[in-house]
Amino acid sequence: MPSPRDPIRRRTRPIHVIALALLACLASWLTGATFAQDAAPAQGAPDPRHPLEIEALTSPQEVLRKLPAARTALDAEDHEGRAKLALAEANACRVTADWSCQRRAGSTAMEAADRTKSIYLQVRSRIALGRALSRLGDFSNASRLLTEARQRLGAEKNDALMADVLLAYSSISARLGKLDESYRYAREGLAYAPPATQPEMHIRLLRNMAKVASETGRAREAQALLRQAEPLLPAVEDPKLTAEILLEEANAARVLGDADTVEERGRRIGAIGGGLENTQIRGLGFETIGHAQRMRGARELAYAEYVKARDAFAGLRLYRDELRAVREIVDLQLAGVRADQLPETTARLMMLTDEVARIERESAAADFEERLRFVQSEAALAAAKTLVENERLRATVSENRFRYSLIGSALVVLLLAGVAGLYWQQRRYAGVMRERGREMEIAIATDFLTAVHSRRHITEAGHAAVASALAHGHHFAIAVVDIDHFKRINDRFGHAVGDEVLKAVAAAMREVCRDSDTLGRYGGEEFAVLLQGIGNDHVQIAAERLRKAVADVRVRAGDQHIVVTASVGVACLSPDDTGFDTLLIRADRALYKAKAEGRNRVVLADGIHDDASSHDQF
Ligand code: GH3
Ligand code: MG
Ligand code: MG
Repeated sequence: MPSPRDPIRRRTRPIHVIALALLACLASWLTGATFAQDAAPAQGAPDPRHPLEIEALTSPQEVLRKLPAARTALDAEDHEGRAKLALAEANACRVTADWSCQRRAGSTAMEAADRTKSIYLQVRSRIALGRALSRLGDFSNASRLLTEARQRLGAEKNDALMADVLLAYSSISARLGKLDESYRYAREGLAYAPPATQPEMHIRLLRNMAKVASETGRAREAQALLRQAEPLLPAVEDPKLTAEILLEEANAARVLGDADTVEERGRRIGAIGGGLENTQIRGLGFETIGHAQRMRGARELAYAEYVKARDAFAGLRLYRDELRAVREIVDLQLAGVRADQLPETTARLMMLTDEVARIERESAAADFEERLRFVQSEAALAAAKTLVENERLRATVSENRFRYSLIGSALVVLLLAGVAGLYWQQRRYAGVMRERGREMEIAIATDFLTAVHSRRHITEAGHAAVASALAHGHHFAIAVVDIDHFKRINDRFGHAVGDEVLKAVAAAMREVCRDSDTLGRYGGEEFAVLLQGIGNDHVQIAAERLRKAVADVRVRAGDQHIVVTASVGVACLSPDDTGFDTLLIRADRALYKAKAEGRNRVVLADGIHDDASSHDQF
């Protein structure tokens, strides 16, 4: 169990902290990404309309007058501004039923919108132009534009625009006689245009549904739908739209035989048309009142209203509208009202029939093709939708794949960091262990008190040296040095002073040792010296040098100088020695002999002469 101050333990902590921090980062990134995705708005806020576009609903002529100045004020590069003004113009044209004007404005709006990044403007300009083209009978291009609008919308997911596109689809379907589809598109649009947030769009969609309901004999349903629309009208402030709702209410009432309601609605429509300077709406008002009078049997009055309606439509060259009024007139003339005018009216009827037929003939092929293309465009739309959905799925999948690969990479990085950390730790650990081993080796090899070699080292080194000397035939000797009467020093001066004497004796002997000699403390007050390359010739001198070094030691103890002597037993390696142990035994015996012979002397093992002179001893 490593201690708290252990460097290995200390180093593992940062690794854990780094790993945890990395994991925390990864986790927070993952959760953050998820939250960010959740928090992403489902739909962008639509661009605001130009104030003039809103004003156009009530004062279209005024807006048309203001537009040139507003356009001049715009920066040449302000495509967004240009698109918005063109949409305002298209709206003013729509309110005044000037479809050519709406087509021009819609086209300008589209051209400008396509130079911006605004999907909103691109879609709205296409709807505006598509509506105008549909009114002008160019269903082919109208539906193409709507398909384009819906495709561009695909990526955007804007409910208001989606409702607008579906409304345009509903209107175009109605004009192509596809009543069920018109109804279906409008109903689908309601889901995108809640009355609370998009009352205007909601009313228009209800109007389209009511129109189909009336035309297919479901007058009560039409009334119910229109009743839903009515309370929303005041908030919208769109007189033309109000007139359209009134017209549908009149149509439903007509189917149900309610002449009073038809007349009342007709008068309100006429009033709105007058206010808007919209002759078509005024004409529709006359026509509606005419229907009410006819229902009551008031043919003369009805006739007068139809004539006013006819004149209003004729002034605008609205041939289809005029044809409807003229048919009523002819009908009444045939019934005896102003019968004298019948030839003239009939001629006009034939002219109008021809004119409408010509227009229809002109677009007949296109119309047929149109119906085909319309169906195809619906298929294309479905395909586009699928494509968008597939793209979305693919994006999700690749996003997930990206995330998984990121997690994978992060885990790999963590793993590598872990492995690197472990490796680094291991290396450090090994280094520390090596260091400790060295320290321990030194500790084992060194005597802690005297700092000369330890008994263990002397023993190991002695074994090795004897083996080597025997193998190579080199000289080798060992001297065993034992302090004389050391016990007395301890007894007299204390153990600590005894220690100081041991240190001084060791230091003195080290001074006289050669580099090749190995000095060690072999026991309490006993030292051993391995003498490399020393044979019988020199061993006496070497041992005597050691004895003398000890005898010269002076250790201060208070005001006294302690003097010590030592007895030395030496043995030279002979061919009879089997190893270090036998050599040591011989040296020990020599030492014993030195002690016995009076101490403070050198005795050479095996025959052996005692050369030592007596010295003063402690
Ligand atoms: P001799 O001349 O016969 O060798 O006599 P001696 O007193 O030196 O020998 P003896 O073996 O009777 O006593 C050795 C003493 O050395 C006993 C012991 O207390 C002392 N001694 C052993 N190791 C140490 C040590 O590390 N420090 C000190 N101060 N004394 C020690
Ligand atoms: Mg001893
Ligand atoms: Mg001794």
